[in-house]
Amino acid sequence: MSFFSTRGGSCVTASQAILRGLAQDGGLYVPAMFPSVSLQQIAELSQMPYSRRAQEILKLYLEDFSSSEISQAVSAAYGEDRFDDPAIAPLKPLDESTWVLELFHGPTLAFKDMALQLLPHLTVASARKNGEKREVSILVATSGDTGKAALEGFRDVPGTSCTVFYPQDGVSDVQRLQMVTTGGSNTHVIAVKGNFDDAQTGVKELFGSEAFAADMDRRGKVLSSANSINFGRLVPQVVYYFSAYADLVARGAVVCGDPVNFCVPTGNFGNILAAYYAHQMGLPVGKLICASNRNNVLTDFFTSGTYSTHRVFFKTMSPSMDILVSSNLERLLFEAADRDGALVKAWMKTLKECGSYSVGDQRREWLESLFWAGCADDHATLEEISLRFRQDHYLMDTHTAVASSVLRQYRLAAGDHTPCVVVSTASPYKFSRDVLTGIAGPERSASLDAFSCSEELEQLSGVPMPAQVRGLRNLPVRHRAECEVGEMGEAVLHAFDS
Ligand SMILES: *Cc1c(COP(=O)(O)O)cnc(C)c1O
Repeated sequence: MSFFSTRGGSCVTASQAILRGLAQDGGLYVPAMFPSVSLQQIAELSQMPYSRRAQEILKLYLEDFSSSEISQAVSAAYGEDRFDDPAIAPLKPLDESTWVLELFHGPTLAFKDMALQLLPHLTVASARKNGEKREVSILVATSGDTGKAALEGFRDVPGTSCTVFYPQDGVSDVQRLQMVTTGGSNTHVIAVKGNFDDAQTGVKELFGSEAFAADMDRRGKVLSSANSINFGRLVPQVVYYFSAYADLVARGAVVCGDPVNFCVPTGNFGNILAAYYAHQMGLPVGKLICASNRNNVLTDFFTSGTYSTHRVFFKTMSPSMDILVSSNLERLLFEAADRDGALVKAWMKTLKECGSYSVGDQRREWLESLFWAGCADDHATLEEISLRFRQDHYLMDTHTAVASSVLRQYRLAAGDHTPCVVVSTASPYKFSRDVLTGIAGPERSASLDAFSCSEELEQLSGVPMPAQVRGLRNLPVRHRAECEVGEMGEAVLHAFDS
């Protein structure tokens, strides 16, 4: 399988796409074609554990990897007790026609672990395959969740290191504690005296700097990225859509071949794009429901055909979906454009220069045949948390609640009662304060610190607090470095040299 850029250029192998991250022309790598999976094969998946399902799906894309490379990577990621549920991505019933796919059982309690536990092993194999002898050094700028998931994924993986920059005053206490207490001999965490944009701009500049690349090379290191546009993060996500469907078949909830809808809380469009890939490969999908919070740029895009960043940015209680530019949407645009890279390039150019682009009515209708989009604000999010807890005895986090609320809207609007899987992207304990507010009201959470909110939530809900949350209080702080916005390069080199 070869990979092309969404903007028309290059033809590389899977391992090269993973090592490079972004194509040279600024586009995203997409597979030359979608491999197909038959209903017979899906029925067979239903008899397999998660790691076998992962191997079967991954090998279709990672053609230049040997089967032992894939199976080693998969067992390192999903074996060895890294996830606190043996099913890895368990499917739980919510009501008669709704299930929850829980993607938060990994070390950092958010769905990014599904991909970031596997990516480091794919990266190491890719480096070996392409004769890369230097250490692969990952640089990440984070507004919270990605940084910790990357640190946990790359921690102590030989031949790699992981350096994370976070805005000094821009992450929650729990998020900061999660990062600065990370173990491992190859992890570095640095507070930037600025906001998230400063950190992200700084990292982008380092990726573009020849002088910095030379400094790294002298130390036997080469830069690489772990962000969500890397194909190596997308492909592990395709697996759990097949896995969820296979579980429904195994339970007799659907007959193999019947359509199932998926409702996905969306930010950068990586998670729901993986569902689209699964559909293209033959998974029987009815509708893909794209759920946004008050930052509803995608809802507007799917309803109007125009993507516009001329809007106010809101901070919400589902922060991992607070976004103006959804980078992975470019991969869907490529399909909407009938794989015409020049057209995608033109749209991206207008987006950069004018802050918006339009795909036209015909392409919008094509998108509408598979996608439905809706949004839920913080008020609706809290109501949904409360309703699902009282009616269905299910405790969901704020991101999952956005999806669940949007599914309610969809069913009302479309009258479609096809079985639906709501994709759950974070543990309720990652957002204890807001979840507690949802089930017990604002008076209950207002006077408590973050840890006490978690304890209260456990008492009220009976859902056990994950060990990672309980342990955070007592872990020693291991990372204290900080730097000015203009000195991020020096800070990285200093971390390596000391
Ligand atoms: C990253 C994240 C999302 C958004 O996922 P995308 O793939 O960027 O659309 C949703 N929920 C949580 C908890 C996340 O961490």
